[in-house]
Amino acid sequence: MVIRIRGYALPHGEYVDLYADGDRWTTDPVPNAELVAEGWLLPGLVDAHTHPGAAEPGDPLDEDLLRDDLRLHVDAGVTLIRSPGLAGQPPEWFGTDPELPRASHAGPWLAQRGQFFDGWGNRVEHADLPGVAAAQAKRSGWAKIIADWRLDDEAVPVDVLTAVAEAVHGVGGRVAVHTQHAAGSTAAVRAGVDSVEHGMWLDQDLLPDMAAKGIALTPTLSGFQDMVTGLGDRPDGPAKDWLLGGTEAHGPLVAAAAEARVLVLAGTDSRPHGQVATEVRALAAAGMRPHDALGAASWSAREYLGLKGLEPGAPADAVVYARDPRTDLGLLAEPLAVILRGRRVRPSVTG
Ligand SMILES: [Zn+2]
Repeated sequence: MVIRIRGYALPHGEYVDLYADGDRWTTDPVPNAELVAEGWLLPGLVDAHTHPGAAEPGDPLDEDLLRDDLRLHVDAGVTLIRSPGLAGQPPEWFGTDPELPRASHAGPWLAQRGQFFDGWGNRVEHADLPGVAAAQAKRSGWAKIIADWRLDDEAVPVDVLTAVAEAVHGVGGRVAVHTQHAAGSTAAVRAGVDSVEHGMWLDQDLLPDMAAKGIALTPTLSGFQDMVTGLGDRPDGPAKDWLLGGTEAHGPLVAAAAEARVLVLAGTDSRPHGQVATEVRALAAAGMRPHDALGAASWSAREYLGLKGLEPGAPADAVVYARDPRTDLGLLAEPLAVILRGRRVRPSVTG
């Protein structure tokens, strides 16, 4: 059965009539194709920062849970994820299973000794970091560095991150950097990495440099907003000030980044999975235009990860809504259909 969809295709809103020729969209009509949905079309949603497959920090990768988490992403209209860090090297079917999202990933996180969650990631000496990161990026396209961790931890120095970026780029890969400190985010931007994750203490003066270098920002706003609501009972002190202050600065940073034409990506970084619409709303609430907040979770993220949108020859993914979701982001909770690799996967066709 050949899938057909038609309607207004975002980002530009032009009317399209598309047929899935296997895993490729075409405008060449196919007789007896099944029109599965019409309305407003996105090339699928994208969660650019998600760690499926582990219930608690430090847990090993659990393949059954990995499948369950990825199903929740598909339920939410997600056809592509990026996992900047996984609890282990993923199984063969990750990113290729016909029922589950396409995926890019960075394998296990790479962290400094004494930092990051016990049980997760590899601890690597500075001298070895470029080589280890490049080896991972060669396998999966990405490496993920934890540049800093708790309040008093030293960040990975800029010369080390520069060597990492050069080594990873040398094998055609990209590097994502976790940072919650001013020093770590400054080092990441100066080093020319590919994406800054979280970055709440990033100095806004660095935004033009980020835009010029094409460094993306994945703030994971909604994840942190959830976390700080649980901080009220914690004793006052520098650690609490750091977390609360960072969360307060985060929204204005996102708005300023979008204004400075830094590519902002939507990432959830939390459980349960399948909540990327919450992050889109958080980005919009922070001051991004709904069009750009939605792009951060769809066409912009897809392009950044190397996939085309709703055009002939592009991979046959789509999510269809009854109305323009930019006018009401609440519509993201009600996709009419999710198409993945040229097949309708939601509502699921059983039978
Ligand atoms: Zn994360």
